[in-house]
Amino acid sequence: MQKIRYRNTIYVLPSEWLGVPVHFDAALSNEATQHHDTIFVGPKFLALWTEAQTWILTHEVGHWVSSVVGLGHWAKLAKDMGIDVWSDLPWGQPNMEEAFAESFTVAVEGDDTRWPEWQELALLVAEQVVAW
Ligand SMILES: [Zn+2]
Repeated sequence: MQKIRYRNTIYVLPSEWLGVPVHFDAALSNEATQHHDTIFVGPKFLALWTEAQTWILTHEVGHWVSSVVGLGHWAKLAKDMGIDVWSDLPWGQPNMEEAFAESFTVAVEGDDTRWPEWQELALLVAEQVVAW
């Protein structure tokens, strides 16, 4: 855990999430983002309740998994598994990157059994890189 100070309030944040370092960025305009090997969280993140923070951190780890393994690699695996990454994206996600990150999050944190093939894909890919 880490303590950060923002506008005269002390917040406690995890230092890492599933092995990926978490840093606070007071200038970040959205809740969180992943860049290289780090997850950055901003002021909007601090205002969220714990369950939402957990969901967002796991979603960003999903993006990290995708970036480390490479979209080309997991998209090929998806094709081999019979998943069409160009249409029928799960949970209303706008593109395959978001679909992958959200599938990873649902597989790890959720109890939604829809799109099981996407969840299986995300876990298979994550097993190669995540320090569980
Ligand atoms: Zn995302």
